Amino acid sequence: KNIIRTENLSKIYGKGDNLVKAVNNVNLSIMQGEFVAIIGKSGSGKSTLLHMLGGLDLPTEGKVYLRDQDLFQLKEDKLAVFRRRRIGFIFQSYNLVSSINVWENIVLPLGLDGKEMDEAFIRDIIATLGLESKLHNLPNTLSGGQQQRVAIARALASKPDIILADEPTGNLDSKTSDEVIALLKMSTQKYGQTLVMITHDADIAQIADRTIIIEDGRVVE
Ligand code: ADP
Ligand code: ADP
Repeated sequence: KNIIRTENLSKIYGKGDNLVKAVNNVNLSIMQGEFVAIIGKSGSGKSTLLHMLGGLDLPTEGKVYLRDQDLFQLKEDKLAVFRRRRIGFIFQSYNLVSSINVWENIVLPLGLDGKEMDEAFIRDIIATLGLESKLHNLPNTLSGGQQQRVAIARALASKPDIILADEPTGNLDSKTSDEVIALLKMSTQKYGQTLVMITHDADIAQIADRTIIIEDGRVVE
């Protein structure tokens, strides 16, 4: 069953001579539980595409459906709630809050939603990602790989259907990066989540169920 579908999705920046078709008429379907890697040269439109899939960027034309919801039919406040409940974001920079500990970072978005916390589930995520001994730590006492594992735990904690990751290992050495990706793949599989990940790394693309190649804003393969 499709969980993400785009219809003639385009994003155009600028005007006239400065016009850039960052994403050009993309039609994609991604199945529930699938792990899709997006690869392509710098500037080919990968981030713009991912941001539109997550409702962070408005398309110039076309549609994004998550399940059967037309994402951009939602008003801004409804879209924000939908995003927080249904989509987990992971970025290259970990975006952890430096003044609070690991546990507090992981549960922070749940608090924003006033949603009942499933503590057993959170504990399970923490164990899966090997963070049990770090819960009291402040982010700046952790290595990059550990910080990214915290960011992954935070993204998984609200039980989203979809995890969108933009170069999640861009700041990690290759060994740490392989470990983080293996954990991310394992945990999204365990919880039945769909994972869409931008990467430069051919080895990472290899372990995805499917690789989408973007060139000049178009899906070429
Ligand atoms: P990638 O993620 O593959 O590196 P991006 O999606 O970041 O590519 O960018 C695609 C194209 O859109 C590039 O030519 C980039 O310069 C342009 N672009 C991205 N964001 C903006 C913006 N906010 N304003 C103008 N041009 C942009
Ligand atoms: P320890 O047994 O080492 O204290 P815990 O896993 O019980 O380890 O908790 C570690 C830290 O995580 C706590 O100090 C607290 O900051 C936070 N924490 C754990 N569970 C909760 C909870 N249910 N509510 C709020 N904070 C918690």
